[in-house]
Amino acid sequence: MALKITEECINCDVCEPVCPNEAISMGAEIYIIDPNLCTECVGHHDQPQCLELCPVESIEKDSAHPETVDELTAKYERLTGPFGGPPLTQRR
Ligand code: SF4
Ligand code: SF4
Repeated sequence: MALKITEECINCDVCEPVCPNEAISMGAEIYIIDPNLCTECVGHHDQPQCLELCPVESIEKDSAHPETVDELTAKYERLTGPFGGPPLTQRR
């Protein structure tokens, strides 16, 4: 299940740089998470990094995008390549 940012977001910029999948970006008014890129940090970390660090708890599970751990793992493998390539941030 991808995560989403709620309207409680105060645009503090903490979450965007910690996302290993570059799934977080600034939207029209607040930060947003691309569900196609969010793996709940599966493949990178034990816990969702953005969720852990948000100071106002404005990140939550997005029930509109339910996914199993297997599906999240498959997404991670799709994003990083068949042999587990380097993080997206190192592939530019
Ligand atoms: S849970 Fe992980 S992958 Fe998803 S948006 Fe947050 S930091 Fe990025
Ligand atoms: S850490 Fe929380 S408050 Fe800060 S930009 Fe991200 S979602 Fe918004």
